[in-house]
Amino acid sequence: MSSKVIEHPAYEKLRPVTDFASVILCKNPGAMELDGTNTWVLRAPGHDECVIVDPGPKGHPKHLKKLAAQGKVALTLITHHHFDHTGAIKKFRALTDSPVRAVRDKHTKGADTLSDGEVIEAAGLRITVLATPGHTDDSVSFLVEHGDQKAVVTGDTILGRGTTVIDPRGGTLADYMRSLDTLIELGSGVTLLPAHGPDHPDLLPVVQFYKQHREERIAQVRAALDKLGVSAEEAKPMKVVKKVYADVDKKLWPAARMSVKAQLTYLREVG
Ligand SMILES: [Zn+2]
Repeated sequence: MSSKVIEHPAYEKLRPVTDFASVILCKNPGAMELDGTNTWVLRAPGHDECVIVDPGPKGHPKHLKKLAAQGKVALTLITHHHFDHTGAIKKFRALTDSPVRAVRDKHTKGADTLSDGEVIEAAGLRITVLATPGHTDDSVSFLVEHGDQKAVVTGDTILGRGTTVIDPRGGTLADYMRSLDTLIELGSGVTLLPAHGPDHPDLLPVVQFYKQHREERIAQVRAALDKLGVSAEEAKPMKVVKKVYADVDKKLWPAARMSVKAQLTYLREVG
């Protein structure tokens, strides 16, 4: 008998990733969403309740139905406020009556807001809230433990493919670099469960790659400033983009400009 392994991206299907974490991928692909939003379904083996992380965007009733069919939802957790993670909260709550917990009061329903270091026991799992700001100021990750198995739901802080954008409305690169260190401290053997893109069996090399990539970009921006003969305070972001991202498709320059702005802010802070 052969059992077929489901691979990412699998829309509207429950795809098991570890003994206690499965994913249902929402059909909202896009430039920022990659293949779509991964909604995580967490439960200890044999447990009848589950925890849902990020029900997804508005306007995807099939996705919510599929989620609601996974059994009683003990708790819904939110990684950050962006609409592709939170848009469905109201509809999902109407379907499941689940309490919803987020960093921001606005997205928290029938429960308290989340705080850094807090430990939640639900669906037979131990879930630790880790503040990982940077992508946004309210970004959190959830370390999920069952026996000696560990996984971490990272939201948009670490993606399964590509790199994370620093949202200029509250996100900062200085926070982001500290958050990468927080995740590096978890060590190896922790399964990466990102909000977009494929999962990975080990978080550590992915986060280390992110850190290295950021450090390289920061070094490139420093070198570009030297060449342009301007300080981080004086620099025009687009001029820096043209130097640093010369080899990158021009369509990506507006996004690159956002990154450069974040890097210039970082260099002004850090020097
Ligand atoms: Zn997202």
